[in-house]
Amino acid sequence: MPAARSQEQIVARLREVHADGKDLLAGQEEALLPALDFDHARPFLPSTVRRNRWRQQRDHESRARTYQVLAISEILNHRAAQARHAVAALAELAWLLGRDDVTAAMDTAGWLSCGAPRVKAFTDGFGWRFADTVEDLESRHMLIRMAAGQRCHPDGCRRGCADRHPASGQRGAAPTPRTPAHPKRRSTPPPSKNA
Ligand SMILES: [Zn+2]
Repeated sequence: MPAARSQEQIVARLREVHADGKDLLAGQEEALLPALDFDHARPFLPSTVRRNRWRQQRDHESRARTYQVLAISEILNHRAAQARHAVAALAELAWLLGRDDVTAAMDTAGWLSCGAPRVKAFTDGFGWRFADTVEDLESRHMLIRMAAGQRCHPDGCRRGCADRHPASGQRGAAPTPRTPAHPKRRSTPPPSKNA
């Protein structure tokens, strides 16, 4: 597949996400930085990274498939922060692949149910398999519900899949973390402090 983005475009995009200063940065950078050759990546790298250790990644589609699997796994486990990281990387990989339509669809999907609707928007955009990649039937139905922005189970969810909205649907909107996203947090709802 021909490179959809030039090195200069990727550098500009990295500068843009750095300037945003959002905590989505880690996932975005993880997707974008390896797409650069060493000379373009160097300004973003610690000085300890040497040229002969740098491996530029060119197969964005394979990387996107890996992040898709990871995102689905984190979503099903209700690990909201980790899901968010993977979904942020996915959006940048869609951009690297030249699919502005997919990144737009992901933005439109908003942030519900640990990002499941965004992953579905990504997957639909590329025409890849989604829920049927999950073997376990119960988990599959859980993913289908979450991708529709619903709670994971018809009787509700005690792990907060439909309650946690770490970021609004807008790419530029600042997240408002009211509680640290703790993956092991299971049953206690976040304290509602309005301060
Ligand atoms: Zn749930």
